[in-house]
This record gives sequence, C-alpha cells and structure tokens, in this order.
Amino acid sequence: MKNKIYVLLVAVSLAFALTACTKEKSTDDDKVVKIAYLPITHSLAVLEEAEELEKEDGIKVELIKYGSWPELLDALNSDRVDGASVLIELAMKSKQEGIGIKAVALGHKDGNVLIVSNDIDSVEDLKGKNFAIPHRQSSHNILLNDALAKGGLTVDDINITELAPTEMPSALAAGTIDGYCVAEPFGAMGVSLGVGKVLYSSEELWENSLCCGLVLTDKFIEERPEEAKNFTERYKTAGANLDEEKAKEVAEKYLNQSDEVLDISLKWISYDELTITEDDYNTLAEKVKEYGLSDNPPEYEDFVKSDW
Ligand code: ZN
Repeated sequence: MKNKIYVLLVAVSLAFALTACTKEKSTDDDKVVKIAYLPITHSLAVLEEAEELEKEDGIKVELIKYGSWPELLDALNSDRVDGASVLIELAMKSKQEGIGIKAVALGHKDGNVLIVSNDIDSVEDLKGKNFAIPHRQSSHNILLNDALAKGGLTVDDINITELAPTEMPSALAAGTIDGYCVAEPFGAMGVSLGVGKVLYSSEELWENSLCCGLVLTDKFIEERPEEAKNFTERYKTAGANLDEEKAKEVAEKYLNQSDEVLDISLKWISYDELTITEDDYNTLAEKVKEYGLSDNPPEYEDFVKSDW
C-alpha cells in the first residue's frame, strides 16, 4: 500500500512539473526578448529600455551579462540571444563572415576618451610607447589611429596591445602601458584614480563617431517582426529618456562603479538620436578600410536596418 501511494505521489508531481514546464516555455517563446550586454556605460540605453518595457508594457527583456566581447559575440553569432549591445566593428566583421544580424540603432553618441599617463603631454610623446585597446575591431582602435595621425604618427610608431577593459587602469598605474582607449567607465576610472588624464575625447577626433550598436538577429527580426520593430522604437525612446541623472540611476543598478567614476564618465556620453545614418556609417566604413580593420566592410543597406 505504501508503495502504491508513493508511485501515485511521484506520478502526480511529475505531471505537475511537466505542466509547469510547458507553461513556462510558451511564456518564454512569446514574450521574452533575450539581449546580451557588457556592464559598461555604452550599453545603458538597452538596460533602461528593459526597465521601461517591463514596467509599462509587461514585455520581459532577459538581460544576459557577459564578461568579454568574444563571449558575447559567441552568444550572438549562435542565436543564443535575440540581440546585443555590441562594438559595431565586431558586428560588421560577423556580418561579413555570413552571420545573420542587423544593426538597428546606435548604442550611444560620443563617450570615448584617449587616456594617457600624466607625463605625456602630446600625441607625439606616445612614440615608442605601449598603448592598450580592447580589440582590433573597435572604434577605440580607429580613435587611436585618428589621434596618431594628428601628430604625424601611425600605429607602426607605437606598441599596441589588446587588454581586457577592467585591466587597463591598473596597467596604466603599474606603468606597463602608457595609455589606453576603451569603453567607459574605464577611462573615467583612470582619471578618478589619478593615474592618467584625457588626451583627446572622441568628438575632438571624429565627429559623430560610431562605437556600439544595438544588433538584432535575422532570426528574431524574421520570426517576430512586430516585436523587433517595437523593441527598436522603444529602445530609441529609452535612449532619449536617459539624461545624466537617469543614466546614473541605471548605471548604479547594473555597473557596480563608484559615484565619482560615474560622474566623470557620464559627462562624456549621450544617448539621444540613436538612428544610424548612412553618412555616419559610410564614414565609419571608410575608416575601417583606411586603418586596416577590414578590406570589405558590409554595405549600409545590407547591414543597417531602417526600413521597418
Ligand atoms: Zn561604445
């Protein structure tokens, strides 16, 4: 008898578990939008959007945090997420390699700086020195090239090293590098620690520079077109709502950085007008070719989706 009751109990709980599973799965498929991000100020628009969508529309955005660009890219390129806030050059490279993705908006406007050690006074002083960027496929690499050109130098005159963003301020403090350019707030962190200063801000080097983009997978766009369109529109609205105060609130929640670092960093960036214009994209594509990031970047009409 005991055994019979036990079998019955197992059967009932199994049935219940299966129902719960099925229920959860259908909610997942219908409602959740999975977005990959790195905890940087450059991704605040998508973090703000997730908050707004859930509060106002009941649409759940599952934010998936990654520790590095290669890990995030791997998730995006294998359709494990519906989209990502990602360095646009990395996304362009993936597109070039045949991955089905589209850039639908900018991550931010401006918001990058070239940080150098306190004993460097001009870009010419960087000759023969060590300089860190996060990835060869980045606007940070382009901004470095632009800065060097101002002093009549090229990347052949310095030693470039790829470092994880979080390691850059301490590497500058230790003297293993003499400068760096990377997504924020790691530039602001160097300033806050007193180990470096701003040599150039991005707008001094490249007007209307592109850096990160909101990228969606073709799978998401094709299978859920209305949601993808709505998501893109709401993303731009969320960006427009991000004034310095609001941006700081979101950054405090997701970034785990000090007040001082955020105050310095958020003065350099804005999130309004996140549409990717053809002119700005073509300037980026030219720079990508000129500085050897890629010989064959995707065409605007193949890569940027604006015809919703
Ligand atoms: Zn960026």
